Amino acid sequence: MWLRRYSHIYLEEGAEDFELAQTVLRKLGKATVVRIRNYKDIFARPGQNFQLQKQSPKLILARKKANFIYKGSMASQDFGYKNFYYNTLQLNCVYNCDYCYLQGMYPSGNSVVFINDCDFFEHTRQAIKSRPFPKEPLYLCISYDTDLLAMESFIPYTSRFVEFTRSEKDLVIEVRTKSANWSSMANVEPNHRCILAWTLSPPSVAAKYEKLTPPPEKRIVTINRYLERGWPIRLCFDPVLQVENWEQIYGDFMRFVFAKIPASQICDVSLGVFRMNSDYFKRIKKQRTDSDLFYRPYEKQNSFVSYPEGQRQQMMETLKLVLQEFLPPEKVEVWL
Ligand code: SF4
Repeated sequence: MWLRRYSHIYLEEGAEDFELAQTVLRKLGKATVVRIRNYKDIFARPGQNFQLQKQSPKLILARKKANFIYKGSMASQDFGYKNFYYNTLQLNCVYNCDYCYLQGMYPSGNSVVFINDCDFFEHTRQAIKSRPFPKEPLYLCISYDTDLLAMESFIPYTSRFVEFTRSEKDLVIEVRTKSANWSSMANVEPNHRCILAWTLSPPSVAAKYEKLTPPPEKRIVTINRYLERGWPIRLCFDPVLQVENWEQIYGDFMRFVFAKIPASQICDVSLGVFRMNSDYFKRIKKQRTDSDLFYRPYEKQNSFVSYPEGQRQQMMETLKLVLQEFLPPEKVEVWL
């Protein structure tokens, strides 16, 4: 399956000197390797078709030269952490969800993997030292513009960051995923400062809008395996889409999830409605005439597109009450 996806690897000049690049090349040994000067020559060239490239994406191995850590975005939840940051170990995702902002953010459907993990670790150490609220840990989301766990079998970034976090007592990381990958993490010791965060949507929503992802039932089985092993788990019902009969569809699904997963063992839950940077939204809408998601009545507020405020509030209030059947209010983080 992976080879069909990554039949070609573009290798940036100098990238092969890094051990992580060698690991990827070894794991994807049958891929054709094409040497390139700079990853942007391939990834950022004009006139690419994101969706066409998604049908047979290529992998680009490159060295990141700057911007190893960013301040958390206002479209994301900080879960109460004052030192909220994220990084971009990879650009683009193996999946292709209709509601994904990456389609509007990146010019290419190919994926870039930055292979200089040592530089990310060094810059993270510096950020920990200089964090603005020194009495609190640095909270770093490492899987925002990608799904690291889905690619762990040939790009072992999650396990490497878990090991790094073990040695940094003032660091908490979040790894967000939709994957059902257990085997490549089965031998990694859990770390209570590494939160594995699963995004879950009702099966009908996932089948329609979360292309290529494992079905929610499979994710739930995987979540339970990680829970049994002792990993801290977060569940993300985000983005909630205003599909027809959304109250019942999402309410029933949440009850189904907590019939399968012990709520008392979950760290917390995030809940959020569909929202997207308006420039990305405009760009995607031009390409995605195949998805009804971009043809709904939205409202623009600041630089984000979402459902009108009253509807957003109603959706979140309704679903928050369902979640509170299983969890105390302080464990439910709502994005409005
Ligand atoms: S899993 Fe997340 S990052 Fe990947 S395509 Fe879906 S929304 Fe985008």
